[in-house]
Order: sequence, then C-alpha cells, then structure tokens
Amino acid sequence: MTAASPGAPALSVVVPVYDEQEVLPLFVQRLRPVVDGLGVDYEVLVVDDGSIDATPVVLQRERRTWPQLRVVRLRANAGHQAAISAGLERARGELVVTIDADLQDPPELIADMVRLAREESLDVVYAARGDRSSDTRFKRVTASGYYDTMRRLGADHGPTHAGDFRLMSRATVDAVTALPEHHRVLRLVVPSLGFPAGVLTYRRDERAAGTSKYPLAKMLRLAVDSITGASLAPLRLATWLGFAGAVVALGLLVYALIGFAVGLNVPGWTSTFMVVTAVGGVQLLCLGILGEYVGRTYTMQLGRPTYYVAHDSAADDPQD
Ligand code: UDP
Ligand code: MG
Repeated sequence: MTAASPGAPALSVVVPVYDEQEVLPLFVQRLRPVVDGLGVDYEVLVVDDGSIDATPVVLQRERRTWPQLRVVRLRANAGHQAAISAGLERARGELVVTIDADLQDPPELIADMVRLAREESLDVVYAARGDRSSDTRFKRVTASGYYDTMRRLGADHGPTHAGDFRLMSRATVDAVTALPEHHRVLRLVVPSLGFPAGVLTYRRDERAAGTSKYPLAKMLRLAVDSITGASLAPLRLATWLGFAGAVVALGLLVYALIGFAVGLNVPGWTSTFMVVTAVGGVQLLCLGILGEYVGRTYTMQLGRPTYYVAHDSAADDPQD
C-alpha cells in the first residue's frame, strides 16, 4: 500500500520507549502542545520495548486523557532500532516522525519538519545535531568515530550526526518496511533510498530524566550492524590481511631456505612464536568478520522477526 488508507491521520509520531517512567510524563507534556498545535489529525505511537519498570502504567494513565496516544507493547526488549521498525510498520500517518522519548530531541522541531516537508515536497527531513556539547565526551568521541568509519566505508549515512530523529513520507516508510533486511539500521537505510531530503539542525539537549538505555554492548551491536549492513569492505579487509600474510609467509620461507642452505641453525623460538600468534590472530579476525556476515544471512534465512508485538492499543479503540 502506497497511498495512505482512508481515515489515516496526517501525522504519526513514533516513539521507542524502554524503561522511561521518569521522563515519559515530561515528554508527554512537551510533545502534546506541539502536535495539538499543528491543526491536523495525528496519532502518537509509543512503542513500549518490553519495559520492566512502570512505563506501561504511566502510558495507560496518559492514554486516559489523550485519545490520540496509541501504545504498542513488545513482548520482550528488542532494541531501539527494532522498536522503531515495529512503530514504522504500524504507523498509519501520511507523514511519520520518529523521536526518542528522553527529550534530547526537542519535540518543538516536529512543527518545522512538517512545514519543511510540505513546502518543499520532501520525502525525508533529517534533524542533525549541530551541537553535541550536552553529550558526554565518550558519546561524542564514539559518535564521531562511528560517522567517520561509515563515511570511509562509503556508506551514505545522510547528514553527519543525524540520528533517528527524522520525518518520513508514507512512500518512504513503505519503502523501508518493504525491505526484507533484518537488523536494519534506519539511519543508513533511509539515506540509501535517495529520496528527496532536507535537513534541519538543532541543539541536542541533555536527557530530561532517567538514564541512558544504550550501554556499550548495544552501541557496539549498532556499529557492527551498521558496518555489515552497509558495506562489504570488512570482507575485503580479510582478503587483504590474508594476502599480506601470504607475502610475509613467502618472505619467511625464503629466509628459512637460505638459512638452511647456509647452514645457519638459529634456535628461532621468538620468531616462531610471533609468526604463530600473528597468523592465528589474523585468522581469527577474518573468521569473526566472515561470521558476522554468515550470521546475518542465517538470521535472514530463518526469517525470524526482530520483535514480537504483545498488544496494540489501537485494537481496543472502537473507531479503528
Ligand atoms: N530504547 C528502546 N529500546 C532499547 C534501548 C533504548 O526503545 O533497548 C529507547 C529509549 O527509551 C529512548 C531511545 O530508545 O527513547 C534512545 O535511547 P537512549 O536515549 O537511552 O540512548 P542515548 O541517547 O543515550 O544514545
Ligand atoms: Mg537519549
């Protein structure tokens, strides 16, 4: 389906949420006036990514006074990207905005994104973080490393430091959700479509309450998914390493043969040890790289969903 179905809202705001009981009431307070003020029919689709705190209760409470709030609850924690994908697949709006719940992305910008998309008939509006001074040093360094690496690998990641705060047209959302790719990293998939896009810059605020739900392990997962999803360069790296290893081995062979011919009998424990360790290390690295791609193909073959929906509040509303 490419055209929005009849009765579809003009705008869906998709919000992935994991254990955000502290920040949710603040988020609702700031988001609601913005979307109410747009003067269009909208839905706010909160994807509860298997929260284990009071998030479901808070959402239930907010829903009583906010009919446009829709809650999709996932059975288990599926991760930020999968939660956004779940929201995109269920969002009904002609325009869809994805935004984090922690108020690092200012909801007020949504009004500008919608205006820009309409005025210039854009399919995508990225919100790029012009100023990351509120992020920790560690976050800034790792983020720069991430965007640098992706650029070097030739992966089009759109404007630098554009995270997952963006607006997409119905056509874009349909194109993204139609992709069979699992573990899709949206900030790479969306630019790769090449649809007409615009950029707005904003200042990234500090998290309004609660703590980051992105531990190092999840950041590394995102980096590995980004690289393997966007580029075959690491596989080529494995080839080059193998090639370099072969050249070195050849040199060593010549060295050994000459040593043998000249009658030099070196007790070469150090060199043997170093060669064995180096070759072993390179081999393991290459196997690991290969494994990432094989694993990716394997999970695709299984067709295993990246998330399971437990409940969608839209099913409770009689008008839907
Ligand atoms: N999030 C999620 N599932 C997860 C981890 C995070 O839905 O497994 C949500 C989280 O609630 C927030 C957004 O993704 O709305 C971004 O997470 P966070 O702000 O903790 O990441 P950071 O800004 O620290 O990178
Ligand atoms: Mg955040």
